[in-house]
Amino acid sequence: MKTIGLLGGMSWESTAPYYRLINEDVRRRLGGLHSAKIAMVSVDFHDVEILQANDDWGAAADVLIQSAQQVEAAGADCLLICSNTMHLVADAVADSISIPLLHLVDATAQQIKSDSVSRVGLLGTRFTMEKDFYRERLEAQGLTVLMPDADARHRVNEVIYDELCLGEIRDDSRASFLSIIDDLRSRGAEAVIEGCTEIGLLVTASDTDIELYDTTQIHAKAAVDFSLD
Ligand code: GLU
Repeated sequence: MKTIGLLGGMSWESTAPYYRLINEDVRRRLGGLHSAKIAMVSVDFHDVEILQANDDWGAAADVLIQSAQQVEAAGADCLLICSNTMHLVADAVADSISIPLLHLVDATAQQIKSDSVSRVGLLGTRFTMEKDFYRERLEAQGLTVLMPDADARHRVNEVIYDELCLGEIRDDSRASFLSIIDDLRSRGAEAVIEGCTEIGLLVTASDTDIELYDTTQIHAKAAVDFSLD
């Protein structure tokens, strides 16, 4: 079994599910008392969020690079950045370590394509929805990506940072997300990517009949595939 490296804390509310999902999957696949070999470094999200808000992606990359190198030094055989948004600096992080970075967007695109879905809606932070890095990476894999309108993007971003990253799960916010998901469907989305690792804490498959791609689940599964390969 190879050791899975996690760069977490962005926010820890979604890193905890990564830890659980990975261990549950290892137990399901290997049985008995088996559990995952994991090396994790968890950052202080307070610091990272300030750099995001200031659009200081160079300094944000430096924080992640330092943490990624600590994960590698702790014996990890691969690295997962446990945040969609922070994949904005994934290339710089990948270049700074000698273990492979398991890219969340690539794992998600692969899963979508294997289901023969081609038009997807995207929910995430304003950085994920409005900067090019995420959409372009999906489009490079042949997918068509639909974004929520400006008001909806504002609402989704606000719920992520003001509620979900603080562990607050509200029914009215779930209702907002479901109405935004319905709008994406009416514009032709066949499925919706939960492109923020906290969204699965609010909206799950049982809340809607449109296919949801929960990036935390997909990324965690990719880690176990790598570890047990
Ligand atoms: N966990 C989030 C994501 O997947 C948002 C927090 C962050 O900005 O890293 O994008």
